Amino acid sequence: MAVRQIYYACKSCNFVSEMTVCPRCAGETTKDWQGMVAIVDYEKSEIAKKMGITANGTYALKVR
Ligand SMILES: [Zn+2]
Repeated sequence: MAVRQIYYACKSCNFVSEMTVCPRCAGETTKDWQGMVAIVDYEKSEIAKKMGITANGTYALKVR
């Protein structure tokens, strides 16, 4: 495992990945984000509902 892996969050869908371009929506990503939430069952997740998430994955709570 990498010691200091940098993760990027998508500015449009909040998806967190190691890519500089969002693998979900090809949107712009940023290193400037806070909080991480893992959605394993978006259909039952209140957080996913609130954030408008329509797929499982890891998302940033706050993206600047
Ligand atoms: Zn995205």
